[in-house]
This record gives sequence, structure tokens and C-alpha cells, in this order.
Amino acid sequence: MPIQRHMPSDRARETENEDLPILIRFTFSAGEKSAYGPAIFIDRDGVINVRRAGGYVLDWSQFLFLPDIPEALKKFSSLQLPVIVISNQSAVGRGLMTSAALQQLTRRLQKTLIDHGARLTAAYFCPHTPEEGCLCRKPKPGLLRAAAADFNINLGRSIFIGDSKTDAQAALAVGCQPVLFGPGLNSSSEGMEWVTGLPVALTGKELFSVAADSLRAAKYRNLADLTVPDST
Ligand SMILES: [Mg+2]
Ligand SMILES: [Zn+2]
Repeated sequence: MPIQRHMPSDRARETENEDLPILIRFTFSAGEKSAYGPAIFIDRDGVINVRRAGGYVLDWSQFLFLPDIPEALKKFSSLQLPVIVISNQSAVGRGLMTSAALQQLTRRLQKTLIDHGARLTAAYFCPHTPEEGCLCRKPKPGLLRAAAADFNINLGRSIFIGDSKTDAQAALAVGCQPVLFGPGLNSSSEGMEWVTGLPVALTGKELFSVAADSLRAAKYRNLADLTVPDST
């Protein structure tokens, strides 16, 4: 007789604190449920777009792509894996922006990427402030867990591209491979020892090859057989 283990669903845990609105998710593509395969998770601010010093990206006019990122995302799309944004957006919880405005901005991002030949599968946001003690704000892995459950993703074969220690922590908490990205990563003078041993891409141009190597290392069986787009 099989041993029955009680494993609470992520959904149940998300809603544990009933005072909190649950995480915000936007799905762009319904037909991409993976067969428990890998995915590419990607942080937003500081990875896809320029982080605003001391401020939040509240509307599209403040959204500025980092160099070569639409092109990198286009190459990710060619791998036919889910590409899912994983991002803390406490501006919502702080009342600086509505979730409708976040949705509008995210849809604009998705449409702009389509114009670049790139495709997002979904975007998961934590709208909470640190004080709310939710289970989805990175470094907690709630967003990754929820996306993995929704799209049947094997986190152990996936990568999470981020620019912060909290991104790496969220990834490692669920056995997902962190990939660090960002021109700022090598210029920070203090407390960067956590980067040691993790794959790093310093420019958008090298992001795809670093990420693809990390996916291969995460033992994605078929990736080595795929044709890797020319990185020039
Ligand atoms: Mg970031
Ligand atoms: Zn949260």
C-alpha cells in the first residue's frame, strides 16, 4: 500500500493568510503546459528592463529595455520552453499602482516582445510589501512554485535568471539553477560572495549562451540536440 504523504498545495499555502491578496498572475499562452520539463524563469527589473534608482516602474513610459534583451528573449523563445517572468512588485501593495495598471504594463511588454519575435508564456508577481509576510515575495520561492504547478514544470531542470541575491535564494530554495545577469553585478563592491560559483552573464549579448549552458547542465536531455541560434 503506498504511503500517503500530506503535501499541501502551493495554492493552499498562498492563501494561508486570508488578509492578503494572492499573487498576481498573467498567462499569455494556454497551450504550453510542459510535460514536466524545464522552463526559463526570468526576473523583470534589472534583467529585462532598467531598474529605476529609488523608484518603481509604474507605467510603460518608465520601462526601458536593457541592451540586447529583446534579442536574448527571442533566442529563448526558439528553445520552445516556457519563459515566465517572476517579479516582486510591492508598488501594488504600497498603493502606488493598481494591479490593473500592472496588467496593462505587462501586456504592453508582452506585445512589444512579440514585435521583436520573442514570446512570454506568463508573468507572476508578488504584490506584497515585505511587512506583509507573504509566501511569494522573493527570496521566498512561492512564485516559482506556483508557476511550476500551473505549467507542470520540473524546477530541478529549470533556470531562474535574476540580478539579485534574493533571486538566487528563491531559485536555490526549490532546486532551480540560478543564472545571474546584469551589468551591475560586477561593479558592486560589498557582499558579493554569494555570486561565487553561480553562472553569470554580464551583458545581454552573452545572456543566451550562459543560460543555455546552464540549462544543459541542469540535464535537459533534449537541449543539446536543439539547434542553438547564432549568437552574433
Ligand atoms: Mg531584479
Ligand atoms: Zn507576496
